[in-house]
Amino acid sequence: MPTFVRTEKCDGCKGQDKTACMYICPHDLMKLDKDGSETGHAMKAFNQEPEQCWECYSCVKICPQQAIEARHYADIVPLGGSVQPLRGSDTIMWTIKFRNGNIKRFKFPIRTTPEGSIDPYAGKPEADLSKIEDTGFFVQCNGYRAGDPSELIAR
Ligand code: SF4
Ligand code: SF4
Repeated sequence: MPTFVRTEKCDGCKGQDKTACMYICPHDLMKLDKDGSETGHAMKAFNQEPEQCWECYSCVKICPQQAIEARHYADIVPLGGSVQPLRGSDTIMWTIKFRNGNIKRFKFPIRTTPEGSIDPYAGKPEADLSKIEDTGFFVQCNGYRAGDPSELIAR
């Protein structure tokens, strides 16, 4: 079930070259309709290939206007319900609206690592892409070991 943009809330990220939803979508689905020729709504974003949407919620969470909603599967969010996040600097608030009108809110801490500051290899050697097509690479590469349940994060 793809995302859709509430045009009355979207401000086109104030005309920046790349909107927040375009920046974050891992599947490059969001697009800004600058002149309104594609949707009839100028300077509003839209999901250009809804059938390709993963419902990953990245665009829903990053949108500064809370203009994006995901039509979730009916067994999770029945018609009339909605799941809307609101990001703060160190928390995210989820507002769950039930079909009968009940509303519940949950607040969770979020990672505060500055964007772009993560070291993806963390001291480990970088991936050797020349080996990418070797068979059995995952189980034979250095560092593979059986999982240790004590390392799981439990809260
Ligand atoms: S991130 Fe939100 S406000 Fe910005 S263009 Fe996308 S839908 Fe509109
Ligand atoms: S939910 Fe994920 S895949 Fe779908 S449009 Fe948003 S960012 Fe892209």
